[in-house]
Amino acid sequence: MKIENGKLKVGVLALQGGFAEHVHLLQKIGVEAFEIRKRQDLEQDFDGLIIPGGESTVIGKLLDELELFIPLKVKIDGGLPVFGTCAGLILLANRFHVIDIQVKRNAYGRQLGSFAIEAEMKGAGMIPMVFIRAPYIESAGKNVEILSVVEGHIVAAREKNILVTSFHPELTEDTKIHRYFLNIVRENIG
Ligand code: GLN
Repeated sequence: MKIENGKLKVGVLALQGGFAEHVHLLQKIGVEAFEIRKRQDLEQDFDGLIIPGGESTVIGKLLDELELFIPLKVKIDGGLPVFGTCAGLILLANRFHVIDIQVKRNAYGRQLGSFAIEAEMKGAGMIPMVFIRAPYIESAGKNVEILSVVEGHIVAAREKNILVTSFHPELTEDTKIHRYFLNIVRENIG
């Protein structure tokens, strides 16, 4: 992958859900961010991918209909660093099968399922975490690094090029997790 103008370039899957907030946050930390809406958007070179929160069944369906699933799967299997938040976590685990975790959807209940806390994430420090009808990770395979546990449940993890959080760092002004992800992106270019 090539870094144009010395800037990292990260695509944000923009089919449904909270993609605009990720684009905003990436731009705030000096990354060239662009939205992925159709196959042609994948023709350019880019260094990393974010799959946002939203409704995983809707995003999954649109991935198929717009014929984005296979080309993205090929890129991810080829080592493209990906950060999935909330619905993005569910898709990376259950559709793309690129991180060895068992996910419980809507794990905090549907109605009262939204809350915010501050907790530690390994390698990133104290993080404000916003949960919205969030999943959590029930169990993880031996190659998965567990990065954060909140009230006994895994809420952030990494396996090789895949980073997932069950909460939404893009809904706060805190940039630490996005910076953490960019380190994975840089390692990969390295
Ligand atoms: N409940 C959603 C799902 O199962 C995820 C919620 C979110 O991304 N904020 O896809």
